[in-house]
Amino acid sequence: MQKILNYINGQLVEPVAGNYIDNYNPATGKVYSLCPDSDEQDAILAIAAAKAAFPIWSQYTTNQRSAILLKIAALIDLNNDALAQAESIDQGKPFWLAQKGEIPRAQSNMHFFATAIEHFASESHAMGDHAINYTLKTPLGVVTCISPWNLPLYLFTWKIAPALAAGNCVVAKPSEITPMTAYLFAKICMEAGLPPGVLNIVQGLGTKVGPALTTHPDVKAVSFTGGTKTGEQIAKVAAPLFKKLSLELGGKNPNIIFADCDFKKAVAESVRSSFTNQGEICLCGSRIFVERSIYDQFKTEFLAQVANLIVGDPLHAATKVGAIASKIHFEKVMSYIALAKEEGGQIIAGGHAVTLPGELSEGYYIAPTVIEGLAYNCRTNLEEIFGPVVTIMPFDSEEEVLQMANATQYGLAATIWTENVTKAHRVAAQIQAGIVWINCWLLRDLRTPFGGVKQSGVGREGGWEALRFFTEQKNVCIKLN
Ligand code: NAD
Repeated sequence: MQKILNYINGQLVEPVAGNYIDNYNPATGKVYSLCPDSDEQDAILAIAAAKAAFPIWSQYTTNQRSAILLKIAALIDLNNDALAQAESIDQGKPFWLAQKGEIPRAQSNMHFFATAIEHFASESHAMGDHAINYTLKTPLGVVTCISPWNLPLYLFTWKIAPALAAGNCVVAKPSEITPMTAYLFAKICMEAGLPPGVLNIVQGLGTKVGPALTTHPDVKAVSFTGGTKTGEQIAKVAAPLFKKLSLELGGKNPNIIFADCDFKKAVAESVRSSFTNQGEICLCGSRIFVERSIYDQFKTEFLAQVANLIVGDPLHAATKVGAIASKIHFEKVMSYIALAKEEGGQIIAGGHAVTLPGELSEGYYIAPTVIEGLAYNCRTNLEEIFGPVVTIMPFDSEEEVLQMANATQYGLAATIWTENVTKAHRVAAQIQAGIVWINCWLLRDLRTPFGGVKQSGVGREGGWEALRFFTEQKNVCIKLN
């Protein structure tokens, strides 16, 4: 059985204690590789390696750092299909989605920050002609980057690229559910000539290895993407130690369809924003609000398109909905479907597990599920499900839909469909979310601030925001006369 290894001080190594956990292929429900069950000892070795590498890496010119990161980006590109296949097997997502979207995005993350750092400059503030200030932006030292299982290499690189570009040394922990592409990424870093210790990857259970990675005195900042509860635990232990914290957490995003929308586009994009990656994207629109005058028409067309979504082998080109990432998550999503029924919801599509033939018979598949008839403030509509499950509700006025959309504790993203530009701006301004898409979904420019409000997180990633997070600013004031 293939063994995944940690990447510490430039080498692929076994965990110190020699323990491994089973890594499942969710498409078959079978163990197909072993993931290091790292503990505090591995975390300490990784942090020490990063600390030792920092004086060297931080003294590289931005041009030298950029050149290595660009080489890593080029190698991701070269290995695109192999990485996409590994991601699909490890996570359950359709191969084509990883091949055309996520692995190219991982490449873009590296490329974007490799070039951005060359334009990241000090600011200067003159005080008339008697003094001048300049603000230095220096790397922090050792930083921890922790990422989730839904978009494994995409979110892993989204964090480490700005951290490395800014001159930090990184200890990264991918999810124990999807360790494979980070392991393959370590090999790419070795091939690209990244100096030892600059990036270290500690694989394993968050509960076991996470505390050392988030509380060690040599770790200056923690960048975390994952669930709100885990974010809360990390904040509890890291905040009293005054570590810099960036927390990208859960979502329960509204998708608001006004009667004056471009109907065809709104339906097709809503199918995509509901079920892409089995609904396992923090930005998926899981609560669909439709203006009453077009509710029936929208529902009919939406359901017709949902019925065409093929649930199948993630490696098959025709598959639109692959496997749920893990058995535990499969059970969680199924429990929410049961809850929705208890709360009085009517299942108008899906609502059940799907058993596929042959070697896929023990995989974790759920039919795309649409639920109507629920109150906007029941648990199904307030809590994050993070699967191929959406609710659909009618509304009568802008005020009403804003109240319903803003009713959750989350505030990550929102989508608005209307051809009335004034209304679009007005509603966007009042939605409690860090990201609003109007007449589109998941259209991303890496320069824009990315993050949520309320329990969806603290801080922003992307563009200068990420480079600012991974640097310390020091203002120097010089009196001239
Ligand atoms: P999770 O919180 O269970 O795990 C995320 C990571 O944290 C994993 O690597 C895990 O091992 C680690 N971890 C767990 N306990 C830890 C601890 N005590 N200390 C340190 N690390 C610990 O989340 P998940 O189930 O992997 O991911 C799904 C969640 O992520 C969803 O809530 C989703 O909305 C959210 N998410 C948010 C964004 C965003 O940008 N806001 C993006 C993707 C996913």
